[in-house]
Amino acid sequence: MRPFRLLQFLLICLLSFSIFTGCTRKAGKPNVVLLVIDTLRADYLPMYGGKETVAPFLEKLSSGGALFSNSFSASSWTAPSTASILTSLFPIQHGILMGRRATKKLATKDPKILLNKLPQSVTTIAEVMKANGFATYGAVDNGNLRADSGFAQGFDKFVTYLSQGGKNLNKQIQDWAPEIKKSGRYFLYMQYMDPHHPYEEHKPWFKGDNLHGLRRFEEAYRSEISFTDSMIKELYELMGWGSNTIVLITSDHGEEFGDHGSGGHGRTLYGELVRVPLIIYYPDGGFSGKVVSEYVSSVDIVPTLASLAGINLTTPHEGINLVPVIKGEKSLTGREIYNHLWKRQKAGTVLELKGLAKDKKRLIESNKKGKKLFFDIENDRHERKNIANKNTELVTEYSQRIAKFETGLKTYDREWMPVPLDEEEGDD
Ligand SMILES: [Zn+2]
Repeated sequence: MRPFRLLQFLLICLLSFSIFTGCTRKAGKPNVVLLVIDTLRADYLPMYGGKETVAPFLEKLSSGGALFSNSFSASSWTAPSTASILTSLFPIQHGILMGRRATKKLATKDPKILLNKLPQSVTTIAEVMKANGFATYGAVDNGNLRADSGFAQGFDKFVTYLSQGGKNLNKQIQDWAPEIKKSGRYFLYMQYMDPHHPYEEHKPWFKGDNLHGLRRFEEAYRSEISFTDSMIKELYELMGWGSNTIVLITSDHGEEFGDHGSGGHGRTLYGELVRVPLIIYYPDGGFSGKVVSEYVSSVDIVPTLASLAGINLTTPHEGINLVPVIKGEKSLTGREIYNHLWKRQKAGTVLELKGLAKDKKRLIESNKKGKKLFFDIENDRHERKNIANKNTELVTEYSQRIAKFETGLKTYDREWMPVPLDEEEGDD
């Protein structure tokens, strides 16, 4: 090519690149954003059958990507479940079985009781991203997720707030925004805490002035979801997530409002606690508006985000890459979805619950008196009718499957630390 032609060619390339990319990012190298909304049960979102007005922005995002209608968390409270989101390992593998506040409560009476740390030997999604050239940022609003117990592994910057609310968390990202945008390619993980108890009655969304008790709590909870929805919209606009960005939205666990005679979370493994939203917004991904009904787990998040980001994931993970499932190239029929809850109780006893969903049925078994609950989750999604007595063979089969599944899981060396008894605490 003659020098003039070459110059012309280069100018055209440069101009085209600028027009199509806005001169700020490399084409086809998306940023990755992982948004965890603490305590958000799936069925309170409009896309999962909840009230239409609760989360208009999340609804819009889900139409620009894929929505998983049968997504399960690995546990029913923050620390174990979030560690599973971040590592693609189950709680009995990474060793985070109890949260910081719950452990501290026990340690005030018995200082020998220590807190499980996320071991150095596991690989977090932030470490994967960092090793692949991403700048990595984490901002969470839950005191269970602190740097000294291992949750900051792989982050260039990581900050933990103690339930200070979505506005404060957004302010942190606004402060970081110039640096994040300059970083080239970034991975951002955030954990909003607003839907977690205590439920604030957020105006203008709160519609429960005439309600009392649990129903008023429920309306306040809905208003917390709406508020969080508005916070995500604010950041989406600020950060320009409408292009060249993968935004994954999920939760660590749900919340009970009297569904099975109780409230809160971290005591059972019923569906209202382990069915969590999973939405992957990525208009450039070619799967806008997809709804996937296959059974998936929070442990699938790391391999799926890695795949979408073009990363060849070589570190240990239990989850699977969901991209071929979204595209309809792979079926997950017969897949087993496992959840786990382990809780040291005041009297020194331990409550351990295990769940297994497979082929439209779900077993929850307890170490207390061998109690077993079995549900037809196709026709009884809210798990109201225990059919264990009428399905004894299947119950035995599912129980054996749980035992076999656990046997196949590699565990990592445990790491422990004393919980500082004088520290300010957040929520479970
Ligand atoms: Zn939580």
